[in-house]
Amino acid sequence: MSVFRRRLSDKDWLISEDRIDKEKMRFQEAILTVGNGYLGLRGVLEEGYEEAYAGTYIAGIYDKSGGQSFAIVNVPNPLLTEIFVDGKKLSVDEMEVIEHRRVLDMKRAVLLRRTVLADAGRRYEYESRRFFSLQDMHIGVVGISFRSLDGDASVVVKHTIDGTTRNGMHAVGGARKHYAVTQALDLGNGLSYLEARTNDLGRLIGIATSATMKGAKPTSDVEVTSHTDEESITREYSFGAKKGARYEFDEYISINTSRETGGDVQAACLEGLERASKRGGSRLLRDHVRAWEKRWQSSDISIEGDSSLQRALRFAMYHLLIAAPPQDIDASIAAKALSGEWYQGHIFWDTEIFMLPFFVYTQPRLAKDFLMYRYRRLQQARDCAAAQQYEGALWPWESADSGKDETPETWVNFDGTVLPVYNSKREHHIASDVVYGIALYHQFTGDEDFMLQYGSEMVFETTRFWVSRVEYDDTSRSYEIREVIGPNEFQEGVDNNSYTNAMTRWTLRYACELHDGLRERHPRRFRILAEKIGLTEEEVDTWREIAERIVLLVGRDGLIEEFEGYFERKDVTISEWGENGMPVWPAGVELADVKETQLIKQADVVLLLYLLPDEFSLDTKRVNFDYYEPRTTHMSSLSITSYAILAHELGDVKIAYRYLHHAANSDLKNIHGNTDLGIHAAELGGAWQIAIRGFAGVRVKDDVLSIDPALPESWPSMRFRTWFRGRLIELSVSDGETQASMVKGRKPVDIEIYGKRQVLHSGQTVKIER
Ligand code: BGC
Ligand code: BGC
Repeated sequence: MSVFRRRLSDKDWLISEDRIDKEKMRFQEAILTVGNGYLGLRGVLEEGYEEAYAGTYIAGIYDKSGGQSFAIVNVPNPLLTEIFVDGKKLSVDEMEVIEHRRVLDMKRAVLLRRTVLADAGRRYEYESRRFFSLQDMHIGVVGISFRSLDGDASVVVKHTIDGTTRNGMHAVGGARKHYAVTQALDLGNGLSYLEARTNDLGRLIGIATSATMKGAKPTSDVEVTSHTDEESITREYSFGAKKGARYEFDEYISINTSRETGGDVQAACLEGLERASKRGGSRLLRDHVRAWEKRWQSSDISIEGDSSLQRALRFAMYHLLIAAPPQDIDASIAAKALSGEWYQGHIFWDTEIFMLPFFVYTQPRLAKDFLMYRYRRLQQARDCAAAQQYEGALWPWESADSGKDETPETWVNFDGTVLPVYNSKREHHIASDVVYGIALYHQFTGDEDFMLQYGSEMVFETTRFWVSRVEYDDTSRSYEIREVIGPNEFQEGVDNNSYTNAMTRWTLRYACELHDGLRERHPRRFRILAEKIGLTEEEVDTWREIAERIVLLVGRDGLIEEFEGYFERKDVTISEWGENGMPVWPAGVELADVKETQLIKQADVVLLLYLLPDEFSLDTKRVNFDYYEPRTTHMSSLSITSYAILAHELGDVKIAYRYLHHAANSDLKNIHGNTDLGIHAAELGGAWQIAIRGFAGVRVKDDVLSIDPALPESWPSMRFRTWFRGRLIELSVSDGETQASMVKGRKPVDIEIYGKRQVLHSGQTVKIER
């Protein structure tokens, strides 16, 4: 095989690891995750090592087992592969590592490895290649090659499906095994099968593997044996290896769960293996690579003259793409995607506000699926509102599979203290954030069908929640929203958080507009919907009235107070920035006292100004950016995006560029210091937004696709594509001009470049100078 002999993609597509660094293993595992949205597999070395955290996660498979809430299950590890030479295990812990290289080829979503180990004067070469198919989501392939470089050896290769894995990463209340192995079988013909059942819901997880030995002729007969115990099944290949000869194994993995098969997971696994062995490793790889080519065709951003940022942006998009559940899988993307267990695989507002835009622009079909994940849980959102004595639907702060609120009751804070968690009862802005995602999807796709069938029902039910949530104040004759947590979670239980209030006002207005529009455009279908949810004109009139009377704390100079009384808190500002350009925590402030100050965890007012760009003037944006920036600690990875985009809008391309570097590299450079627990999917989505919404200036304005780019000095040009209302539009931006062409789609469409309107026809290219 020799994994690196085959041509790799261009270097801007590669993430490489060039040596074993014991301190960094867990971090590397997270960034070298491979997957296909159905499944995510951390980048552990196949044979394991002391610190190994073999994490394998399947979208939608959660379990509780006496924990505080349902957590994504670390399922059995399907690819534990150990090689023993003359009785000794090839191991980076016990042998000398002479050479080591791993490369994640992001274009093909394949992880390649070559390690040369030495022991007692002899060298052994080990290579592997792994991927989980994008074309056939249940199938994974691991190819392995081995050579004994300095002498003949007696070799044992052991493949294990390891059912001893547990959730232990940052576990509140200790490590937990979320399943029990129910079957570990040798099915004959080289097939191993392991089945496990999750503790609470009894979901069955089936894993079948088969291996074929290829390559050189062994010096002895190959003896194949298998061993099962209660938690695993191992197949062993023993043979004599000739000095320098290459022995190869193609291992196919087939994984299914009862969540999607409904029942017979073993049959589904075996069918998968049959498909795999019929096609063979090379064709599976070819199909997988083709499927990825298609993904990248509409997703990739190509930037001239900035190789490191180019690679970092691809890294961001790669991790978003490997996290997107395939069409038939009812799931969404968690805060850490499928690369780790932090936040227990829960889905937050991170998805709609930070990740969804990437998909809306580049993979609208997948974007729709995330919204369908919410729609299928609308009843639970209604229950969630009712449980808190409200009407309509309240999207849970943290969601897993059932759609019930999964927010834990306690949490270990940055300083190690255990804190009560009030977010599900107070961080209600998520209600509007989900609506924002729906509106963005509608704006870009024009998918009226979706809105009539699903979208508007979610919007209207969320609006009803807000109507029951706001409180009328007689003295000011306005509506207030009390006792909330805004995006900035440092100050909890505040009144009239400006983000929450303004987003509520926007939600109410949007609901009215949507109501009016759908009623006019689709009177018959709209009537059916209105009847279904009992919506009347009078009710919508109340929405209109409330929207215009929601308190918004804007001063005369345009400065927005983050919440009532914020300006009276102790004014502490940041005066020092670290090497990575990030704020240094101000001396003299204890984390426990931060709520008494004006320091904020993450973008709050500034995020609002980014999300609703047309509701605030440039002056207002400037005044607020200048005020809040020195008070923002960026302690959440969700913070930087809106600061970058606003800085760009305000003309400070340099700051925006620095922030883009930070966001795109946050995991690659482990800037938050906790990437080992999983990548920061929201920030990676944010990096994409900084590039496309910020630098390229692409958004929908007055119902028209508008492009208003301003690139950093170091980029001569950038090229990318976006979907807009059924057309795929390619945009090439350079310093003084922008070219647009419609590469898919028939009907002409209006676009606006540098504020100039244009009609774009199918197959045609227009060129506009600034
Ligand atoms: C942030 C939230 C975010 C959550 C999950 C928290 O630290 O403050 O805004 O939703 O992490 O990423
Ligand atoms: C986050 C909250 C979350 C809580 C429990 C905290 O770190 O900031 O948004 O609800 O953890 O998961």
